[in-house]
Amino acid sequence: MPLPDEKPDGEKPLGERLAGVIAAAGPISLAQFMAEANAHYYATRDPLGLEGDFITAPEISQMFGELAGLWLADLWSRAGSPTDAHYVELGPGRGTLAEDALRAMRAARFEPPIHLVETSPVLRHNQATRLPTARWHDDLDDLPETGPLLVIANEFFDALPIRQIQRGASGWHEVMVDHRDGSFTPITSGPPLDDHIPEALRDAPLGSVIETSPASESIARALADRIAKQGGAALIVDYGYEGVMTGDTLQAVSRHEHADIFAEPGERDLTAHVNFTTLERIGWAAGLTVHGPVSQGRWLESIGIGARTAALIKAAPHRQEELISARDRLTKSEEMGALFKAMALVAPDWPAPAAF
Ligand code: SAH
Repeated sequence: MPLPDEKPDGEKPLGERLAGVIAAAGPISLAQFMAEANAHYYATRDPLGLEGDFITAPEISQMFGELAGLWLADLWSRAGSPTDAHYVELGPGRGTLAEDALRAMRAARFEPPIHLVETSPVLRHNQATRLPTARWHDDLDDLPETGPLLVIANEFFDALPIRQIQRGASGWHEVMVDHRDGSFTPITSGPPLDDHIPEALRDAPLGSVIETSPASESIARALADRIAKQGGAALIVDYGYEGVMTGDTLQAVSRHEHADIFAEPGERDLTAHVNFTTLERIGWAAGLTVHGPVSQGRWLESIGIGARTAALIKAAPHRQEELISARDRLTKSEEMGALFKAMALVAPDWPAPAAF
């Protein structure tokens, strides 16, 4: 019997609620822990910018969104300027990327309706101040079913939940989250999963971790199927890797610093590196052409960040230092230039995109 003054479950802090679930039914999967933590985290704050927990490329400089918009407008125009095309963004944050991209697209006479796939009510509110004509969607199912989709996803897939499988003395097992002595702790449990481990990794050293992201795969599949059916393309930019590898890439960030992944669930941003090879396979399997991934630095340089920086400096010479520093931050390999990658998934009857 709950005590009369006990809060209903929905109002309890997430940590208490997850501890209750584990006490009642045993450890939960890492994917469930990450999904619940991030859903709470994004639903309750705007985490972006210097005052927040982390900063993203469109928040560093308007050039990022503008160049992404010009890239989309160029592709749209070479596809015959279809009048029923839609702009779609997955996880649009503050709406900065969309605002910059749409302004650049307007200059290229491309003014599509705007569709934002966003679950956070706080961020939807922020997006609405910049993009009052947008329509919001909880997931991809709800997007228009006719007309080409021109999609951008920047730092979206890294926020989606991952599974981890770890090699222990008795084989490969799923990483679960237990609650012991007041703290959340990763453990391995469940049946051995050795049969599901790629041949090349089966004998990896004890302690090795393999990550997968079923949530990312199912969103990528839905996205690829829509583009195959309706036309268009998706530009995916994120940090990540290619190929089959082992490694624990899960991290928590708070106030621009690494933080404890398992402390205060829902109060820190949990992310993992994106497996571009998996996204690529999903694209090919749906019949799309896949371009890249290439490094963000190379991609931005190929679509003209040099010329764009020079033009902005010419228009506002007092901003020279700031613009050059933003360009360097986005492109230099010791900054975001090499870890971040860009990949395009393009409908089979659409032209090849620029800059890949
Ligand atoms: N693209 C933005 C923000 C990146 S942060 C930028 O570059 O600045 C991640 C974004 O994805 C946030 O807007 C967050 O609310 C959203 N998000 C996270 N998980 C989501 C999910 N499952 N469905 C839809 N949006 C999600």
